[in-house]
Amino acid sequence: MKNFKDYEESIYKCSRCGLCQSVCPVFKVTLNECAVSRGKFNILNGIIKGDLTFNDNVKKYLDLCTGCNACKDFCPSGIDAREIFIAAKSEYYKHSKLPLLQKIINSYTMFKFLLYCASITGKFFRLTGFSTAIRFFENSILSCGYIGKRLVLINTLFERKLKKKSSRSEKKYCKKAIYFDGCFNKYINNDTKKAAKMLLEQCGIKVIEKNFECCGISYLHDGNTVEFKKITDKNLKALDCDYDYLLTDCASCNSVLKEYKNYNDSDSAFQLSQKVTDVANLIENLNFEAIKNFNVAVHKPCHDSGDFVKIVKNIKGINFVEVQDYDKCCGFSGKFALQHQEISRKISKQKAQQYINANVDFIITTCPACLLGLNQGLAETNTQNKPVAINLYVFLAEFCKTI
Ligand code: SF4
Ligand code: SF4
Repeated sequence: MKNFKDYEESIYKCSRCGLCQSVCPVFKVTLNECAVSRGKFNILNGIIKGDLTFNDNVKKYLDLCTGCNACKDFCPSGIDAREIFIAAKSEYYKHSKLPLLQKIINSYTMFKFLLYCASITGKFFRLTGFSTAIRFFENSILSCGYIGKRLVLINTLFERKLKKKSSRSEKKYCKKAIYFDGCFNKYINNDTKKAAKMLLEQCGIKVIEKNFECCGISYLHDGNTVEFKKITDKNLKALDCDYDYLLTDCASCNSVLKEYKNYNDSDSAFQLSQKVTDVANLIENLNFEAIKNFNVAVHKPCHDSGDFVKIVKNIKGINFVEVQDYDKCCGFSGKFALQHQEISRKISKQKAQQYINANVDFIITTCPACLLGLNQGLAETNTQNKPVAINLYVFLAEFCKTI
């Protein structure tokens, strides 16, 4: 695992050209130089020179980032800013004595407790019909301001979009895949997992389930590498059988699992990074036809290689609409959306407006956090005939048939 010191050379490589400003979603809505990589590198340079120390203010500016990696792809010096910010935040944690309450809030135990609460709330929303009622009165609820918008957004977490049931497959299994069900599938809504399993069965892939923890993405991005390492250890321990693939249906889980080997020296971490793959890669040989001539657009998550777009474009009977900036950050990014609500909502709103203007029926994506980002943006816009943000596998299982 690299330390902040190991990145000093990379920080010096920043030529201050400012090109990162043109792609940084946070800079675009705040015009705050500290939001963009160049500004953060100026701060970190001050730390290297000894003019500044790792304090709460430095952490605050480092947190002003969705981790989208757009600046890395655009930077002429090829600097991986996100990696540097993680190392810098990790150094902050080493140097600061957090109050006990803050430690409890930051702990994985608290995170799991909140997930259990979300799970219970979800069951309540669904069983009581509250979820359906919110959808029915959505426009009136949205006109109630901030609380209404948040209620509609929370409801999108729990709503069931998959109505179809899996039918027993007669197919012989030829590959074994362990399914990494991220927090969203495990605690909040398992529509995506069910849909992905239906599709995998059709490809002859046997899905094995294990008791995994969260992938740890929010701890990694927060620079809390101590807690992140503990999570990686638990997940690697759960991989106790032979497997051909470690499957994910979430772009964020996928990208973080590939990073385990950078924080864990074990063979199993290396093996995992080689075997982790998207469900999309295993179903690309299936052919789909939509049940109706929908107008469909995609949103490519920042951490997705984008191969799923090919699958969507190949669905027979749809009208594929390429919406501008479909591959730009949705502004959600987990903890960022909680710490910087105003900025996050502005980015999401601009994004959602582009899909509304394109008049599409569905926005297909592959990350639960992006679904939240898109729904957050849609909730900001009180118009009729809004598109439905939906996971790729749920769309394929519910609104398409295989041909
Ligand atoms: S694009 Fe790269 S080199 Fe240019 S200012 Fe941004 S981080 Fe520095
Ligand atoms: S990773 Fe994204 S949000 Fe963060 S500084 Fe780079 S462009 Fe901006």
